[in-house]
Amino acid sequence: MLLGILKESAPGETRVSLLPESLKSLLAQGIAVHVEAGAGVSAGASDQAYADAGAVVSGDRGAILGSADILPVVNAPRAADQALLKSGAIVIGFLKPLDAPDALTTAIALHVTLFSMELVPRISRAQTMDALSSMATVAGYKAVISAADLLPRLFPMLMTAAGTIPPARVFGSGAGVAGLQAIATARRLGAVVEAYDVRAAAGEQVRSLGAKFLDVDLGGINAEGGGGYAAELTEEALDRGRDLITKTAAHSDVIVTTAQVPGRPAPRLIRRAAIEAMRPGSVLVDLAAPAGGNCELTRPGVTQDIGGVMLLAPLNLPAEVPVHASQLYARNVLNFLALIVKKGVLSVDLGDEVLAGACVAHQGKPVNPRVAKLLESTIPQAG
Ligand code: NAD
Repeated sequence: MLLGILKESAPGETRVSLLPESLKSLLAQGIAVHVEAGAGVSAGASDQAYADAGAVVSGDRGAILGSADILPVVNAPRAADQALLKSGAIVIGFLKPLDAPDALTTAIALHVTLFSMELVPRISRAQTMDALSSMATVAGYKAVISAADLLPRLFPMLMTAAGTIPPARVFGSGAGVAGLQAIATARRLGAVVEAYDVRAAAGEQVRSLGAKFLDVDLGGINAEGGGGYAAELTEEALDRGRDLITKTAAHSDVIVTTAQVPGRPAPRLIRRAAIEAMRPGSVLVDLAAPAGGNCELTRPGVTQDIGGVMLLAPLNLPAEVPVHASQLYARNVLNFLALIVKKGVLSVDLGDEVLAGACVAHQGKPVNPRVAKLLESTIPQAG
C-alpha cells in the first residue's frame, strides 16, 4: 500500500498533511510513504527529515498521484491532479464538499473515495479527528496576535515610573472554539476581555477564562441548534446582538468576531456604525470571513482601513502558523487513518458512523446526502 504526501498547491497554503514525525506508525504497518519534494518545507519539515523518517522523497508529483492508494491532503487537489488519481484511491482532507462540490467531480467520476475532515461528526469518539477545532484553535490565537501587532497600544496594564498604561480592551463576538481561544490569548496578554454569544452555555466558559460575558435578552427564543452549535436567529433577535455590539465597540480596542451558524452564511452582526464608534487605531479581525463575514463592511481576504480602524478578514489564518497547524492537523488525519487502515490492511466500512459522516463520495457516487443534493445535476446518485 502506498500513501502519498503532496506539496499543497493552493495559493498561500503553507501547511502539510503529514509531518515526518507522523510516519512511524504507518511505516511500521508496511505502508510505503512517498513525499513530493518540498512538501513540508514551509511547515518546518525538510525533505531530508522525511527521508530520515523512512519516506521516499520524489520530485515527480504525477507519479505520486498515480500510485497513491491513500492521499491525505490539506486542501482538495485541483482537477488536473484529481485526473491522475487511481480508481479506488482514497483522498482525505479539507475538501469543501458543501462550498465547492463541483471541484470534486473529476475524482468522484474516477471512483476515488473522498473523506472530508469538515464532515467528521463532532461526537466524543471522533474528538481526536476534529480538525475544524484544531484549526479554529490556531486561528483564534493568531487573530489576537495579529491584532496586538497592529494595535498602536500595549495589551497589558503597565505601572511604570513614567505613569500607568491601562490594559487594552478586547471584545469577542462568538465564543465557540476560535472565540474561546481568542479570549484566552487576549487574557494571557493582559487585556480586559468581554464576550458575547447567543448560546447561554458559552457564558460559563467565557467567565472561566476570566472574561466578562455580556448577556442579551433574545426575547425568550431558543438560540441553541443541535450539537452545541447556534441556531439561525430572526432579524429581531440579531438586532439585539447588533445593538450590544455597537455599544461595546465604542470602548473596545480590538474586536475578534467568530460567529457562525453551520451551513448558513455568517450572521451579519457588526454594523458600519460599530466600526465608526471605535477609536482610530483599533482593530477588528473577522474570522467569519470565509463564510462571508460578521461585519457588513467585510471583504473576505482583504484588509481595509476604515477611518483609521483596521478591518482584517483573513481566509486562512492557520496557514500563518504552519508548524503547529500542520502538527495538529497531521494528528487528526492519523487518527482518522486508523479507522481505515488496520495492521497495514485497507478497509472502508461505511457502517462506521464517523466514516459514513465524513464520506463525500465512494465508488463513483456521492454518499453525503447534502453533497448528493448539490451534485444532483452532474453526478449519478447512489441507490
Ligand atoms: P461555530 O464556528 O459554528 O460558531 C462559532 C460561535 O458563534 C458559536 O459559539 C455560536 O454559538 C456563535 N454564534 C452564532 N451565531 C451568533 C450570533 N448571532 N451572535 C453571537 N454568536 C453567535 O462553532 P464552533 O466554534 O465550531 O463550535 C461551537 C460549539 O460546538 C462549541 O463551543 C462546543 O460546544 C461544540 N463543539 C463540540 C465538539 C465535540 O463534541 N467534538 C467539537 C467542537 C465544538
